[in-house]
Amino acid sequence: MVPGLVGLPNVMHGGAGYAYNMGCRCEVCVGAWNARHRELRAWRSDTVATDDVEHGIVSTYSNRGCRCDACRYAKSEANRRRLSRAKSAR
Ligand SMILES: [Zn+2]
Ligand SMILES: [Zn+2]
Repeated sequence: MVPGLVGLPNVMHGGAGYAYNMGCRCEVCVGAWNARHRELRAWRSDTVATDDVEHGIVSTYSNRGCRCDACRYAKSEANRRRLSRAKSAR
């Protein structure tokens, strides 16, 4: 394997474009990058909070694509809970 082209070590692949930005072009990173850009395009016209959904819950963030502060906070809280739960399983 040629270092620096695909499958970079010690980086999170398929994340928010981090490994991709480092030059990684593995399947996971390219797929995540493409999906992310597709999402950003799709949501650009509809990222503002709407009134007919409940905000501050993960499903609104995920299913409605809402990126208001409350929904983003709910999403990050859910991620943190999942991580800390996995970590505390000693
Ligand atoms: Zn990668
Ligand atoms: Zn919202």
